Amino acid sequence: MDHCEPGSALRVLTALGIDSSCRNLVSVVMNVPSGKMKKKDIVKIADRFLSATEANRIALISPRASVNLIKSYKVIEKIKIELPESFVNVFNCPNLTCISNTNEPIMPIILVESDPPKLRCKYCSRFFNPNELE
Ligand SMILES: [Zn+2]
Repeated sequence: MDHCEPGSALRVLTALGIDSSCRNLVSVVMNVPSGKMKKKDIVKIADRFLSATEANRIALISPRASVNLIKSYKVIEKIKIELPESFVNVFNCPNLTCISNTNEPIMPIILVESDPPKLRCKYCSRFFNPNELE
């Protein structure tokens, strides 16, 4: 993953569930000088592909990130990460008293307002930061 926001690499790893039990080869470079962004973080993970949910999480942490699929040291595909208009049944609303957190059969829907990402619950209309989402 290239062009991650500077300082976001560790949150990207957390979003992907990568911790000390990970057996893949992982390299993290933080605060690399970058023409376009001044500074950027780079995360490389061997033998790992991203699910749609994981790509969504990364888009929230690092909206300008790009994902490169690398095979035999060559970039075989570049994916531009994009924020969807809403997350349906991906994240729960952080507001514990929200109706989507009760036993009602309601799918959590988080609306994405604009760039930089602003998130709002469809049900309780509360705004929150990307790092509040789990
Ligand atoms: Zn809510």
